[in-house]
Amino acid sequence: MPRYEYRCRTCGDTFELTRPMAESAAPATCPTGHPDTVKLLSTVAVSGVATPSAPAPSSGGGGGGCCGGGCCA
Ligand SMILES: [Zn+2]
Repeated sequence: MPRYEYRCRTCGDTFELTRPMAESAAPATCPTGHPDTVKLLSTVAVSGVATPSAPAPSSGGGGGGCCGGGCCA
């Protein structure tokens, strides 16, 4: 089951939910109980299935930069 990341606009917290793809756009409630949340464009991690379109860090070869933590979203 895919995992989605959400951010609460009330307390600013981010949290993850594992839910069916059909419910990915359904409203999510933050663990603290706030209903005002937004879905983040995070990597959808399907456990047990390798992502074939994973970007290969072939050029540059640094440490990845900032796009791993969601700050570029
Ligand atoms: Zn909250």
